[in-house]
Amino acid sequence: MALDEYRKKRDFTKTPEPAGTVLKKKRPELFFCVQKHLASHLHYDFRLEHNGVLLSWAVPKGPSLNPKDKRLAMHVEDHPYDYGEFEGVIPEGYGAGIVMLWDEGTWAPEVDDVDAALKKGDLKFTLNGYKLKGSWVLVRTGGRYPGARSGGDGRSWLLIKHRDEWSGDLDITTFAPRSVKSDGDFADILGDKTPEIWRSNRPAKGGDTGAMFARIIAQAEKLKATNAGNPVESKTSHEGTKARRASKASKTTKASKSARTKPKRAS
Ligand code: MN
Repeated sequence: MALDEYRKKRDFTKTPEPAGTVLKKKRPELFFCVQKHLASHLHYDFRLEHNGVLLSWAVPKGPSLNPKDKRLAMHVEDHPYDYGEFEGVIPEGYGAGIVMLWDEGTWAPEVDDVDAALKKGDLKFTLNGYKLKGSWVLVRTGGRYPGARSGGDGRSWLLIKHRDEWSGDLDITTFAPRSVKSDGDFADILGDKTPEIWRSNRPAKGGDTGAMFARIIAQAEKLKATNAGNPVESKTSHEGTKARRASKASKTTKASKSARTKPKRAS
């Protein structure tokens, strides 16, 4: 029931995304994640675990730590709980493109009744992720927000950071652009799979997104060729990944390391 719309949009013989189930068990901590998704347009899928599924909003510009920024967040279909740590390549169909696990952690509502808050269109909550922390709010706009694509259908919300010790001017999407799962960028994720799939007919051709795809595909093909041409790395691809990670890690600053500090999680 809860995942009908999610399943209707996908052909699971063609996508690596999980068909998923609704999580039955009540858990002491609730999961949240943000998946950076390069599809027909770049956006950030913001997901909160609730009643065994992931409530989902697509945020075109991504979250901002600045309380003055009101980021448009389009409410989309619930996703299965096990979608939460998905990272990979959707070769064709709905959402075709590259998915990166950009942030994950736990969340806690700042209200007693989440369903009532959702119905009202005003959900306050606290995040404890690698990149996003502290108090936030999702407010429904009723489609009046300029730039909202579909007016009045109740799908447009705003994602806003509350002022606290975790708010600030730091542009978090630029400062910490990589995966919290693999530490890779889009080219790394695509390069680990099949960059050649979109040599023709890529998910976006024109404009900025098309240019971004062209650049990432070229980069990914080069990465894959380099890895294949290196006997040490081709023997154990895992070691190759580790070496790449290590060389990246050496370039990261102290500040960026602290932005990726693991959140406290109950086991
Ligand atoms: Mn998406």
